[in-house]
Amino acid sequence: MRVLVLNAGSSSLKAQYLEVGGEVAFDLTIERIGEDAPDAPADHAAAVEQVLAVVDERGLPVPDAVGHRVVHGGPDLTAPTVVDDEALAAIEAVVPLAPLHNPANLAGIRAARAAFADVPHVAVFDTAFHATLPPAAHRYAVPTAWFSDHGVRRYGFHGISHAYVARRAAEVLGRPQEELRLVTAHLGNGQSVCAVDRGRSVDTSMGFGPLEGLVMGTRSGDVDPTVVFHLVREEGMALDEVETALNRRSGLLGLAGSNDLRDVESRAADGDEGARLALDVMVHRLVGYVAAYATRMGGLDGLVFTAGIGEHSALVRRRVGDGLALLGVRVDPAANDAVDGEARIDAGDGPAVLVVPTDEEGEIARQVAETVG
Ligand code: ADP
Repeated sequence: MRVLVLNAGSSSLKAQYLEVGGEVAFDLTIERIGEDAPDAPADHAAAVEQVLAVVDERGLPVPDAVGHRVVHGGPDLTAPTVVDDEALAAIEAVVPLAPLHNPANLAGIRAARAAFADVPHVAVFDTAFHATLPPAAHRYAVPTAWFSDHGVRRYGFHGISHAYVARRAAEVLGRPQEELRLVTAHLGNGQSVCAVDRGRSVDTSMGFGPLEGLVMGTRSGDVDPTVVFHLVREEGMALDEVETALNRRSGLLGLAGSNDLRDVESRAADGDEGARLALDVMVHRLVGYVAAYATRMGGLDGLVFTAGIGEHSALVRRRVGDGLALLGVRVDPAANDAVDGEARIDAGDGPAVLVVPTDEEGEIARQVAETVG
């Protein structure tokens, strides 16, 4: 089965055309949608036309299905969903929960449905894997009406990636997922960890939105909301300004002046205080989350690193491993330094420690095939 996977952002469209479980025929990113630049596509429809043109140029058949990554499925869209008018309305209804992401995803879906009118379109949600979070993990201790009337709960994100790497880790270990208590760490520009207890997500560090939890490239992760009240009420900042700062000027960027971990690592090695601090805060929080999740699951069979930092930073993996010594985690230094793609890097007698390159497009395609196949 051939699937075209589309991931539409507000000004970009990523497309991958692949055979489920097999070859990727092409992978392309179209940027600057709607911008006033030469060659910039006017809108998502124009961007999808470019994808269609590549399908033609390469002599590829029309795909059997199109899979769409949708960031937020809200409380009800918890499985891959064939896109019809009702599903579109349901995704639309979730826009207030994800005002920055779902509208772009919807624009991509609408444009692609027009361009590929005769094949099924399937929406795959980043929140869906976390639908199994028990109330103890998904509820905030706030007035119940906030939950029932306003949808305030923890949803969690990066679910497509966590689902893929957990399944792949079980394959690498040669054991059924149903036996394994894993913590998956998706460490990219956005970062989250997930407790995958025998195949089900039971806790994750992002919450109502993607701002909660770990230290990220430009997002703060956990912050006491009192900080917001203080800055707005006492220090005269505008609410929008604080929101922008927490999303775009915090995290590694806020502490070290760069959101690129490679820069942060090299500056820390040269003795830069801010860069050292950024690494310390990031690792401190990661260790705390992983340890809490291991405790919650009653043990840890494996820790899985993925995404840019998880796949490429030997330093972060080593420091997180060191921080988890109490749980028996031991990272083998030589194996850790030699990582290039998928690898097992533990010293052998404690929980497994794995690096598994994420494959969100492959996972979306697999879920699409399961849904329409
Ligand atoms: P996104 O969430 O945008 O997909 P990625 O998964 O590509 O992001 O991760 C980006 C992060 O990975 C950046 O902080 C980048 O510095 C980091 N990274 C990539 N390669 C390396 C490397 N060799 N060493 C350390 N960090 C790396």
